[in-house]
Amino acid sequence: MTEDTEPTQILCARCGETASGVVNPPYPGELRGELQSRVCQNCWAEWLKLEVMVINELQLNFMEPRSLEILVGHMREFLCLDAPAESDE
Ligand SMILES: [Zn+2]
Repeated sequence: MTEDTEPTQILCARCGETASGVVNPPYPGELRGELQSRVCQNCWAEWLKLEVMVINELQLNFMEPRSLEILVGHMREFLCLDAPAESDE
């Protein structure tokens, strides 16, 4: 048993449960940290299922940076993460 591979216990922003955080989110930088510290593995798994549908429905093409932005927007909404800084009060 190696302790450093154990996911941290976090308070999930979506379901409100204290659970293991996402282990290896496929996003860089701040978003990665947010996913690891604010999203539980169950909710992440839910999102991964929905993600496929979002990509298909919106016909997102990851050759375009805009597509990733759109996807991340949906992800934040689904996971109850705060909107990016541009949001109005
Ligand atoms: Zn959760």
